[in-house]
Amino acid sequence: MKEDKMNGLRDGSLLRQQGLIDGEWCGGAAGRTIEVIDPATQHVLGSVPDMDGADTRAAIVAAEKAFGPWRAKTHAERAALLEAWHDLMLDNIEDLALILTTEQGKPLTEARGEIRYGASFIKWFSEEARRIGGTTIPSPIADRRIVVLKEPVGVSAIITPWNFPNAMITRKVGPALAAGCTVVIKPSELTPFSALALAVLAERAGIPKGVINIVTGMPAAIGDELMTNQTVRKISFTGSTRVGSLLMRGAADSIKRLSLELGGNAPFIVFDDADLDLAVEGAIASKFRNGGQTCVCANRLLVQSGVYDDFATKLGARVSAMKVGAGTEAGTDIGPMINQAAIEKIKRHVDDAVEKGAKILATAGSMPGGDQYAAPMVLGGATTDMQLASEETFGPVAPLFRFDTEEEAIRIANSTPYGLAAYFYTESLKRSWRVGEALEFGMIGLNTGAISTEVAPFGGVKQSGLGREGAQCGIEEYLEMKSFHIGGL
Ligand code: NAD
Repeated sequence: MKEDKMNGLRDGSLLRQQGLIDGEWCGGAAGRTIEVIDPATQHVLGSVPDMDGADTRAAIVAAEKAFGPWRAKTHAERAALLEAWHDLMLDNIEDLALILTTEQGKPLTEARGEIRYGASFIKWFSEEARRIGGTTIPSPIADRRIVVLKEPVGVSAIITPWNFPNAMITRKVGPALAAGCTVVIKPSELTPFSALALAVLAERAGIPKGVINIVTGMPAAIGDELMTNQTVRKISFTGSTRVGSLLMRGAADSIKRLSLELGGNAPFIVFDDADLDLAVEGAIASKFRNGGQTCVCANRLLVQSGVYDDFATKLGARVSAMKVGAGTEAGTDIGPMINQAAIEKIKRHVDDAVEKGAKILATAGSMPGGDQYAAPMVLGGATTDMQLASEETFGPVAPLFRFDTEEEAIRIANSTPYGLAAYFYTESLKRSWRVGEALEFGMIGLNTGAISTEVAPFGGVKQSGLGREGAQCGIEEYLEMKSFHIGGL
């Protein structure tokens, strides 16, 4: 049953409730379905097939069949199809944003931003497709030549989370298709409609059947098949470190290539010599976007003693003015959290912090009814023994840790097994380089809270993952090198 909000779609055919295998929109072999819930109302939005290992095998067979003809297209032909898909995403931005907000919860303005961000990867990699070149290597032997060819990896499994249901797919599928790979996508069971709407547009753009397949449903059976099936040559996963490590183990027997974008625990450091207004702006962007449910969101705000009180007051004023509510309501800053498990984790972190001495310095002025919302808040007096210091809170809670020296800030910042993103604010050139080089993270924001763009490498070190997405290097994750030695010339 369609919820009322979806009646606002200009093009109702973008709301698909079936999987996609070999160009056929279909149910699962076992006939089961799972419901998709609107996190703002808890109403059922609709359902998708709960597919299993047999469905996943069928999708892999379809992707394998489509691989030969797809890789045989010229790079320019693939690029043109990707460009057409990109244009359709932007033409349908309002509908894609409404579907995204309704199943995921983020404010509509952020959902539109995600669609533009998501589409940017398709555009970027349509351009990169034209630039896949190999190299020639001067041979040590006179009558020989050596060239290195770049070839698509093959059938790729794309497994994505609920927090960016559009962009996490396009960041992978863009380079995969540009490189000549075909894909089986397993979107999050919480947010499948955004993935299916993207596939409707891909079909309209003329991307051939079998190049993009989507299996929906609960992860265990689908994941087992994707991990163990010999035809799948590559797994690209974004999600938690726990599942990333499970996939790595599961893929070991068939030696698949892996790209893993996993969890983070980003420090956000404000030094005494920072531009405080800029730092507050950055903290709002980095901490509260998507209600704090982003992998690169500031999890620990480390503030030097000299500016601690001023920073807390300024940030508190902004947080008190935040509007919490349904993402579809005008002016909403913080939407509902994805589900009750998310709410419970946030509550556990706040309770634990308060019990260990943290103080709630500011919180939203008013809250809507319903237990799907978490209050944005600033917590003062956070310490490293609190749960929120070592785990991703994934909610709109900004804990402030006071520090005295640069060495102390770097030590605290790096004392995590994660290494995705880190931010710091200083006006000193020397400190910028010193701290930037000392932080053990894959991405650094210096005097900015915004680091996500298709033009720069995105990814982490330590337990935050393997490989990089976006940028020129993003397409390499879907390409193999073949050395070609020609003798007797
Ligand atoms: P999750 O790991 O629970 O799920 C991610 C995806 O994996 C979902 O599609 C899920 O169904 C699937 N999955 C779960 N178990 C599986 C299995 N056994 N086999 C195959 N697939 C399986 O993560 P989530 O809760 O959806 O997303 C939040 C997490 O994602 C956070 O930790 C966040 O930091 C991380 N994340 C990282 C990035 C990044 O780029 N590094 C971006 C966004 C989110």
